[in-house]
Amino acid sequence: MVCFVHRMLDDHGCDATLLWTLHFREVRSPTASGLEKRYQVACDCRVAAAHRLVRELMLRDLHTDELEPPPLLPTCGGVRRTNTRPCRNWEPSARR
Ligand SMILES: [Zn+2]
Ligand SMILES: [Zn+2]
Repeated sequence: MVCFVHRMLDDHGCDATLLWTLHFREVRSPTASGLEKRYQVACDCRVAAAHRLVRELMLRDLHTDELEPPPLLPTCGGVRRTNTRPCRNWEPSARR
């Protein structure tokens, strides 16, 4: 699901609601009622920001030596289509 939300935000941007997150649930996973509880956030980009790509998928900028997200999202690491858990491409981003 996290891949899906990221992809939709890339294509359509965020409209400050949980539009894509809830859309995913409606289409794929209507029983995942804990979703709002897991993500106590107001909009899709907050859901997206709760996860970051694992280090292996980040690109190292040779000039600054910083890790950057790749220009295109890698293919989904694969959870069942109806699963709302992030696939292995994602890890929880550190809390600030
Ligand atoms: Zn947003
Ligand atoms: Zn995925």
